[in-house]
Amino acid sequence: MRGEQRLRISLHGAVQGVGFRPFVFRLAKDLGLRGWVSNDSSGLLVEVEGPAERVERFRERLDAERPPASVILTREVSWLPPAGYADFEIRPSDGSASPSAAVLPDLATCTECLAEILDPRQRRHGYPFTNCTRCGPRYTIVRDVPYDRPNTTLAGFPLCDECRREYTDPADRRFHAQPIACPRCGPRLEVSIAGAAAALRAGGIVALKGVGGFQLLCDARSEAAVARLRERKHREAKPLAVMMPSLEAARRACRLSPEEEEALTSPAAPIVLAEPSPDCPLAANVNDASPFVGVMLPYSPLHHLLMRETGFPLVATSGNVSGDPIVTTTEGARAVLAPIADLVVDHDRPIARPVDDSVVRVFRGGISLVRRARGYAPLPIPIGEDLPPTLAVGGHLKNTIALAIGRQVFVSQHIGDLDTLASREAFVRAIDDLCRLYRIRPERVACDLHPDYGSTQWARNSGLPVAAVQHHIAHAASCAAENDVREPYLAVTWDGTGYGTDGTVWGGEFFWVGNGRFSRVAWLRPFRLPGGEAAIREPWRVAEALRWELGDEEGAPGIDPARRRTLRHMLARRLNCPSTSSMGRLFDAAAALAGIAPFSRFEGHAAMLWERIAGRGPGDPPGAYEIAGDQGPLDWEPLVRRLIRDASAGTPAPVLSARFHSALPDLIVRVARACGARVAVLSGGCFQNARLTTQTVAALEGAGIRAVTHQRMPANDGGLALGQAVLAWTEAAE
Ligand code: ZN
Ligand code: ZN
Ligand code: FE
Repeated sequence: MRGEQRLRISLHGAVQGVGFRPFVFRLAKDLGLRGWVSNDSSGLLVEVEGPAERVERFRERLDAERPPASVILTREVSWLPPAGYADFEIRPSDGSASPSAAVLPDLATCTECLAEILDPRQRRHGYPFTNCTRCGPRYTIVRDVPYDRPNTTLAGFPLCDECRREYTDPADRRFHAQPIACPRCGPRLEVSIAGAAAALRAGGIVALKGVGGFQLLCDARSEAAVARLRERKHREAKPLAVMMPSLEAARRACRLSPEEEEALTSPAAPIVLAEPSPDCPLAANVNDASPFVGVMLPYSPLHHLLMRETGFPLVATSGNVSGDPIVTTTEGARAVLAPIADLVVDHDRPIARPVDDSVVRVFRGGISLVRRARGYAPLPIPIGEDLPPTLAVGGHLKNTIALAIGRQVFVSQHIGDLDTLASREAFVRAIDDLCRLYRIRPERVACDLHPDYGSTQWARNSGLPVAAVQHHIAHAASCAAENDVREPYLAVTWDGTGYGTDGTVWGGEFFWVGNGRFSRVAWLRPFRLPGGEAAIREPWRVAEALRWELGDEEGAPGIDPARRRTLRHMLARRLNCPSTSSMGRLFDAAAALAGIAPFSRFEGHAAMLWERIAGRGPGDPPGAYEIAGDQGPLDWEPLVRRLIRDASAGTPAPVLSARFHSALPDLIVRVARACGARVAVLSGGCFQNARLTTQTVAALEGAGIRAVTHQRMPANDGGLALGQAVLAWTEAAE
């Protein structure tokens, strides 16, 4: 036949379980093309043939009209001679190829499914496990690839006739929806939603089996209920996330920007860190130690139904005892959550792996992940170079792991701090899980340089060749990799603590990066952390150390003289006073010098308060402080001297904080100019500070330097695994 063409397209990304095959089927039929579409273990494969011009139209419309939840990460296109297909068909999945398909993240309930469960005329009215090809669980139910029902935790629920009809009808929204379910054939809730709502209304604590694990719920307006939850969960001060009944309710509780609303209502439906409004109805102890409140919207039918029944905001925090991983099983709920909760609401849809709620902050007009889990994991990060099979085990706190193969890095969901036995077990399970799911046998394991990290210890005992990557170099590489930076750049990596190549604690580092080499060109002038770990919990200690370093005999007001004497003695004798160049600790110390947060109630607390007090607006008061220098040790002395002087002269804390923040973009621009950088990469936990990051980006761009920040990966230690993975085979690893 003249003018006939066959086109083969191979798509990788979030292309399974989003209704892509039925969409391709309808599109091909519409254009009168023949061929087939199939899920394979590396994504989606399509072949169409017909008149060249219509094949070309197919290619255009494939992109323009594809299902909204799909994400195409890479594609390969080839033109072939016609094969003489008779019709267009959906072929069964091919389980033979190498399984590097992007398993899709879990997606929040779509508007159609929500309308159905609220409509008394529908057979899924009130059914909490309703889903379709556009929404519902994915990563939390997948046991193996390819993504087909027998490979999910729904395997044990044979379809009823009606569900089977929907599942096999190409015109139906549930065509090949793998988790398809209805009240007749699907999973069931053990306790009624009305019963759960009644318990919550009475001030009780409910453990609810959600999408990626159990959640602990209580009335977020009730100080007594929240206090009881904190006490039973052993979670003293850290802010608790809140599920709001609706977007309108969230708007009343918080000042939301359009971007924050967009994040809340996105298919990922994360927890958004937002600023509470003056008449926020939430109990003060929900977030009393924090300037932000983490809010989210209902993201599963179960949540929607429960929120409609209660109508008030609910604390919705991970179902665990603080420090341990989130509980996913009935046995776990009995053992761990029954003592905490007044009522356990279980169901019989198994959870394949623990996946917490994600946390995002919104600034610079986009989202920035603080905790990457439900809704985002395990979408791979595409990278510019081919990597051999590599495992990266991340840091110790906010741990994630990553698996690299070819040009993709699969980063696990947030696993947590590796401080408890249970969390270390979860870490090992996550490694096994990802390796099995993607059929990857790592040839090398990358880890942090810190010998005491739980992840490093595992790597050293794994029997695999080890590549240790310095903490801040991994931070830099993570940000550069997710943004595909290829030219030489200045890396600014500021965080709390990381093990330096000289054995001291780093955290205020600048690296010049070119040709795969990282040279440390500047760093914060080192100071002492009296008491080591204790100095992290008690910022007043660091403030004292700075005063001592400056020969200030006076010391801060309000500190017990006996404690101060002990501290000074420790400093003079260098007893348990590790040296650090950490910017995170300078933030803590500055807050303490200004009389804010001499004691920190959770990690990052003092820095958060310090950011918050400076205010949101650009309002840059005159008299910005200065950190001196543009290479080598950067001297904080002028900054600290002026801060102490202003504070004792009674300058209000918001002004002190604003002046402090304003010193930092100037410093970064100065160092960037000194090394002739045209690109600056900003990474490390300090860059979760919206004020710092926004001002720095503006200053860099004003100086004609491109600023690169994290988006899909956290700036904090949750981003380390990606950086370790991309450096595992380079000279930057030891
Ligand atoms: Zn749906
Ligand atoms: Zn059914
Ligand atoms: Fe770090």
